[in-house]
Amino acid sequence: MADFSIGVDLGGTNLRIAAVDEHGVLLEKVTLGTQVALGRDRVIHDMCEAIRHLAHKYEGSGALQGIGIGVPGIIDMKTGTLRESPNLPGWAESPVRTQIEQMLGTRVILENDANAAAFGENWLGAARNVDDMAMLTLGTGVGGGIVFGRAIWHGMTGMAGEFGHITVEPEGVQCKCGNRGCLEQYASATAVVRMAREAIEQHIAPGLSHAASANPEFSAKAVYNLAIQGDEEAKKIFRRVGHALGIVIADLVNALNLPMYVVGGGVSSAWEAFSPAIFDELRKRSMVYAATAPPSVPGEEQGASAQVEPGGPTRTIVTRALLGSDAGLYGAARLPMVADEMVSHSYPAGAKMRKII
Ligand SMILES: [Zn+2]
Repeated sequence: MADFSIGVDLGGTNLRIAAVDEHGVLLEKVTLGTQVALGRDRVIHDMCEAIRHLAHKYEGSGALQGIGIGVPGIIDMKTGTLRESPNLPGWAESPVRTQIEQMLGTRVILENDANAAAFGENWLGAARNVDDMAMLTLGTGVGGGIVFGRAIWHGMTGMAGEFGHITVEPEGVQCKCGNRGCLEQYASATAVVRMAREAIEQHIAPGLSHAASANPEFSAKAVYNLAIQGDEEAKKIFRRVGHALGIVIADLVNALNLPMYVVGGGVSSAWEAFSPAIFDELRKRSMVYAATAPPSVPGEEQGASAQVEPGGPTRTIVTRALLGSDAGLYGAARLPMVADEMVSHSYPAGAKMRKII
């Protein structure tokens, strides 16, 4: 018998719901399309149906600890309101937590999706052996999360860790957030495709041009496939991704001096193509990194050195995530298991878990 909880990863494309036990064993995962076009009420209805199904199915195997939901966007933790979500049009300023709690009749913990991913990697993934870490998630956008002492660092209102909107080019590409030159404009899947299209328009990228005309759904993955085949323009795009990431990670290393920075999200599967540029920037831009870098070959996969060091960590490890697209799902499921003991005023207190309706 092991207690369990239900984690939800609410994306702009997929809605994934999983029952996970307290030891991190995945009991069952359900993937639904997010019917964004049908509106918020429909998505929340479908989500609650799937949660109920899993809750009732596994209630014989242990006690349900609660529901954790990772949501893309900026959340006001105190009110459980989704303030702003580019991937969920029509959800801005909506009291998502209250709505779901009323439908289920039980406590729900809402968390930013990148924070949830960081929490998942800290629980079961690349950062499981460290207490403090930061994560960058490279997907449609770029998200970030900070974990201190195995608890998510929320900042004042739950909005900490927006690494995707750190400036890497002062007069760079316009970002949806209002700023110019945000990391997100150079290191997201959207950015990879944009940079590829820019190269095509300049008539300097025959390989990319051919791939784009052959496939109407030209994606970051297609650009990566060309890069690993040796296409120079495609390789250059991933070097730009790495340089932008390296600038931001160097800033984070200087500001936070954490033992580990994890890079995850869909674009991180191109790690080999962009990580050498990250390490170039780190060595160039961060004296803290220079003083704490692990003694491995620059640009190499550094996950192997992410072991427990006696007396605590002393090296700065920058590595790729291990849990793939499930990081946020595991992290969301973990939230209700530890919410009461987390040093955080950001979760609703005193609302005891009740049996789901
Ligand atoms: Zn921005």
